[in-house]
Amino acid sequence: MEKMRVRFAPSPTGPFHIGGARSALFNWLLAKKTGGDFVLRIEDTDRERSSQESEDNIKAALKWLGMDWNEGIDVGGAYGPYKQTERLETYRQYAQQLVAAGKAYYCYCSDEELEAQRQAFTDKGETPRYAGVCSNLTPEQQAELAAQGRKPTIRFKVPANQDIVIADLVRGNVVFESNGIGDFVIVKSDGIPTYNFAVVIDDALMKITHVIRAEEHLSNTPRQVLIYQALQLPLPVFGHISLILGKDRTKMSKRHGATSVDQYRQLGYLPQALVNFLALLGWAPSGEQELFSTAELIQEFSMEHVAKNPAVFDVDKLNWINQQYIRALNPEEYCTWSMPYVIAAGYATEQESPERLAWLKKVILMSQEYITYLSQVPEQISMYFTDEFEFENAEAQAVLQEDTATAVIELFLEKLQAAETLEAAAVQQALKATVKETKLGGKKVYMPIRVALTGNMHGPDLTQIIPLFGLNRTIERINGSMKKI
Ligand code: GLU
Repeated sequence: MEKMRVRFAPSPTGPFHIGGARSALFNWLLAKKTGGDFVLRIEDTDRERSSQESEDNIKAALKWLGMDWNEGIDVGGAYGPYKQTERLETYRQYAQQLVAAGKAYYCYCSDEELEAQRQAFTDKGETPRYAGVCSNLTPEQQAELAAQGRKPTIRFKVPANQDIVIADLVRGNVVFESNGIGDFVIVKSDGIPTYNFAVVIDDALMKITHVIRAEEHLSNTPRQVLIYQALQLPLPVFGHISLILGKDRTKMSKRHGATSVDQYRQLGYLPQALVNFLALLGWAPSGEQELFSTAELIQEFSMEHVAKNPAVFDVDKLNWINQQYIRALNPEEYCTWSMPYVIAAGYATEQESPERLAWLKKVILMSQEYITYLSQVPEQISMYFTDEFEFENAEAQAVLQEDTATAVIELFLEKLQAAETLEAAAVQQALKATVKETKLGGKKVYMPIRVALTGNMHGPDLTQIIPLFGLNRTIERINGSMKKI
């Protein structure tokens, strides 16, 4: 069988959206699954809106998500260049070929004239389209219009009365009527091709076998098919994947929260978790499994299980998935992932002594069970970095006002000071001894100690917290609280 060649062809015009990452992922998974090629092409014909920054951002995001491309921008390949503004001569030649064959023509209509034509259709209650004014100009008429200083566009001549059938991998057969499509611009007056033209030339010359992209391009596809036919180029297989909706079933937008890959990276979602989540946006695995390693995704993914109905972006599900991946990190990995956030919060620097680094790691690990994404780490461990704190509420404060609280605290501190180390086992020992000697129930012992030490009624085990504060800070914090009572 012919080798599968798929591509991701972003326009570098802004933040890299989650939807773009999902399209890239589906293509990448197909290439990996079939041993095919994954091509990265930059569609930068919108010169005003395209930027190098956006291109760099897309490439960095793809790399961060683990989607390497084996052909395309930066890495090269047999069908380059892979940036559309570097391919203008190629588009020009194909446009000329269409003009020479009478399948495209120069259009000299000004913007005002086009607007008037549109208005005329609207007035008749018809869908506006190009009226064909310039479709049959004689060379003399063309010369005259050119002499007026008009710069022509090139329009594709849409054949009349043709059904264009797209056998879409996701949507089945989709039929468009050519009569509904006016002659459309393929080259703008500045010589830059339009998307619909450049994409066909590129996909054909780059020997792309499958065009898997977002549903919003389905309506462009009949125009593209007409160009393939006019140039007698082989058609790729098309597959248009559904829109991504927010939980309220409206199109995913900034109102729904973070929409760019970079925002999720900064919030501290793990790339593997995001990939896992993106794969499930539209693709439904056959079983109940929700967590997939990349290797499993490559094995399981198939276009047959890509749904026609819109995918709903469920951030709770993303959070759940991310939590599972975070909890599965080993201590070393978890610390490595968390450290940039801890540094950004001012709790650590790039250069720490081995002792403090060892302490920092233990502190960081205290947060692993409690966070959803990594930017929550600093808040979760903030108490280790300051000895100023308040009681979380009146209830907490009341714990220290109970008759037995002072005696419990005094006895516990005595035991702690007498201990040889301050390891978890020693703290446990001191707690047990305090329970025994005061003859109080566990809670009457643990709670005042916890509140005096942290201000809170809940949190990780005292046997974990106290060794991290060390003896002096533990005593100072507890005594400080008792003074406030
Ligand atoms: N440059 C187009 C976009 O970013 C790509 C469309 C396509 O994949 O054909 O939407």
